[in-house]
Amino acid sequence: MGMQGQPLLVTSLIDHAAREHAGREIVSRWADGSITRSSWGEAGTDARRFASALTRLGMTKGDRIATLAMNHGHHLVSWYGTAGMGGVLHTVNPRLFDEQLVYIINHAEDRMLFLDAVFLPIVERLRPLLEKIEHFVLFDAPAQEGYLSYRDLIAEGDAGFAWVDLEERDPVGLCYTSGTTGNPKGVLYEHRSNVIHAVTEIQPDAFNLSNRSVVLPIVPMFHANSWGIPYAAATVGAKMVFSATNDAQLLCELMHAEGVTHSAGVPTVWLAMFAHMDATGIDFGALEHVIIGGSAAPRAMIERFMKAGVYVGHAWGMTETSPIGTMGRRPWNWDDLSFDEQVDVICRQGCPPFGVELRIVDDEDHVLPRDGKTSGRLQIRGPWIIQRYFKGEADAADADGWFDTGDVAVIHPDGVMQITDRAKDVIKSGGEWISSIELENAAVGAPGVQEAAAVGVYHPKWDERPILLIVPKPGAEVSASAIIDYLKDKVAKWWLPDEILFVDALPHTATGKILKRQLRDDYKDFKLK
Ligand code: ADP
Repeated sequence: MGMQGQPLLVTSLIDHAAREHAGREIVSRWADGSITRSSWGEAGTDARRFASALTRLGMTKGDRIATLAMNHGHHLVSWYGTAGMGGVLHTVNPRLFDEQLVYIINHAEDRMLFLDAVFLPIVERLRPLLEKIEHFVLFDAPAQEGYLSYRDLIAEGDAGFAWVDLEERDPVGLCYTSGTTGNPKGVLYEHRSNVIHAVTEIQPDAFNLSNRSVVLPIVPMFHANSWGIPYAAATVGAKMVFSATNDAQLLCELMHAEGVTHSAGVPTVWLAMFAHMDATGIDFGALEHVIIGGSAAPRAMIERFMKAGVYVGHAWGMTETSPIGTMGRRPWNWDDLSFDEQVDVICRQGCPPFGVELRIVDDEDHVLPRDGKTSGRLQIRGPWIIQRYFKGEADAADADGWFDTGDVAVIHPDGVMQITDRAKDVIKSGGEWISSIELENAAVGAPGVQEAAAVGVYHPKWDERPILLIVPKPGAEVSASAIIDYLKDKVAKWWLPDEILFVDALPHTATGKILKRQLRDDYKDFKLK
């Protein structure tokens, strides 16, 4: 063999960061408002202490360790420390319903649970139902009856702990999808898949991270590994800024105080941020590069970032894809495009980075052309794409590796993918499909509109017709006719909603997306006028 075959391990990410970027800061803003500063060097040492403490508590290779926690430096150490003792870090989304929390923690057979003190009420309530947890540990508070403390474990841990022997295909992380149908399903990440994903993510056409970057991932660490940012940042030694709360004012303050250059989050967080900026006049500070994903970014949002001179990338992916599936890069002829054409490009979901492949297929699994017109079920394959759900009996991907995403998309001739809908959200009117996403995103651009959701309701002739639910901006006067007028030149005439209803709020999923399933249920007997 001509070359060396070191395995691709998550522990090598923290070892590299601790060795090459020891002094680069890791800043945590905690729930109580305090700020602490650590570094990649300290995180590396603490991860070894953490791993040794878990080993002393009887944890062994392959064990699942759960976290119920927001973003902060201790959570980061638990990721790397768990990896180094051979464990599988299971990030649990604290916003799930009680039954889902109990189901996934028991299904994963988690042996330890690390939590933030704010989630004590949840854990106290569910504790009797959590079958396999042997130790509960508080990340951000002293030990108390029934709870160990992270700080004690670190203080007692051995900084010279040697990582256990690992292979690159060993599992290292576990994250459950929120389960739009049936029980949530666990996606098991491997060392190799996470490392390749991390190296992909730093690329200029992706998150564009470097040693000079100051990264604030607003996307929670329990949402598809915070989109992989805590791994990617370690490869280049970017400064990390974590916030345990997602309040827009606090995030803005933190961005300014720490000189944040890179950030990532779902559209809802940016909407809240914009509202705060409008109210206070505060600007983006040093922000250079923003990634929006998790659901489609509205055009108006993309325009606002671009006009402020912030590079905006639109990313598509899912828990099953680690999560990067596509990234919205600027094409080579970017400078020749008008502003509106540039916005058009960024509104689409982008291109697959090297490593993953995409295709669209029809209901008989025929591969469809990349003509920018034909839409079909989006399939994906690659080294960081799911093969089989945790404890699954059959593969989730077909024999050639293609995983059906449940999204409906078109692929343009230049390779850019555009999500038109989730398969279950498309509105089927007279045998044709209406994209609920496009309708919503157009509506969010209308004056006075804070948030919008389009759902299909029964229609005797057309099968389904769209209605639009609108949450107005605080204090704004908006009328249905004004919104229809606004939409007229933005969507096809037959897409215009049959009715517009004004509501105070829309239901959201645990990851901040509009909960379409509930809306479909709520409006299933809705009678059009
Ligand atoms: P869930 O939303 O089911 O909890 P995920 O966080 O894995 O789970 O969500 C993945 C889904 O989110 C994708 O299948 C897609 O429908 C949607 N999604 C993610 N990013 C985008 C985007 N940029 N544009 C449109 N839809 C997106």
